[in-house]
Amino acid sequence: MDLGLKDRVAIVAASSQGLGKAVAMGLAREGAVVALCARTESTLISAAEEIRRETGAGVRTRALDVTDHEQVRRFVADTVEEYGRLDICVANAGGPPSKTFAETTIEDWQAAATLNLMSTVYLAKEALPVMQHRRWGRFIAITSVTVKQPVEGLILSNAVRSGVSGLIKTLSNEYGPYNVLVNNVCPGFTATARLVDLSRKLAEKEGVTPQEIEDRWARQTPLGRLGQPEEFANLVVFLASERSSYITGVSIAVDGGIVKGLY
Ligand code: NAD
Repeated sequence: MDLGLKDRVAIVAASSQGLGKAVAMGLAREGAVVALCARTESTLISAAEEIRRETGAGVRTRALDVTDHEQVRRFVADTVEEYGRLDICVANAGGPPSKTFAETTIEDWQAAATLNLMSTVYLAKEALPVMQHRRWGRFIAITSVTVKQPVEGLILSNAVRSGVSGLIKTLSNEYGPYNVLVNNVCPGFTATARLVDLSRKLAEKEGVTPQEIEDRWARQTPLGRLGQPEEFANLVVFLASERSSYITGVSIAVDGGIVKGLY
């Protein structure tokens, strides 16, 4: 299948490692030009070098914090200025800490809302008008299976990411008439640094090993294993492509079947 991604211009946020980097790599493999951002310049540059080396694609980078609207605004504007277009925007950020409700502070709630909801709003505010103008676009949020089924100990993610689902569905209605597709992809337990960090913290709390925590997560999925970042990226790349042309407003899990509900 030709995905029609050659020379498309894509922003992938929070992409120095993990899911964001795998998505950027996947898009680059299909011939897209990718603009990466994350907070730490050094890891961002090594991610960009790896993507260039493996794919030969054009890659630009910007060290920024997605919770800062002005930095996001300039990044999107500079990318559009350099390439004359923006076709794809993948909204992503780090995850909020693992806490019970009693352990959270008001500041934790405000930080989670800024990190996961407002960062998506900032990217949407800047990217969607450009896509609307060109009558072609793909805006994809990376959230979590927590939008379909709450995960124990992740109340901040369980609560705040549902706001992103509501945002994405509404945007799909507002931008559909302009041929801009807006979707939400929800990772399950996927082997990244974020998961290592979560398993370590949970293991400390429970007095078990991180491996035992990861094995427990794996057993919860019908496939009996954690996902790989590339398996997640494959769906995002498809949704970003020409071939996804009649799919908008959906939240799709890439979770090895861990969500037990029907939808
Ligand atoms: P990760 O920690 O491996 O990578 C996160 C990336 O985001 C890094 O590149 C980091 O530099 C960047 N980043 C973090 N905060 C940022 C900020 N404020 N501004 C700019 N860049 C920032 O995480 P991951 O596993 O790739 O997860 C990506 C997202 O998906 C997270 O929100 C995570 O909570 C969510 N998620 C992950 C899993 C999983 O199993 N890996 C499951 C469900 C949801």
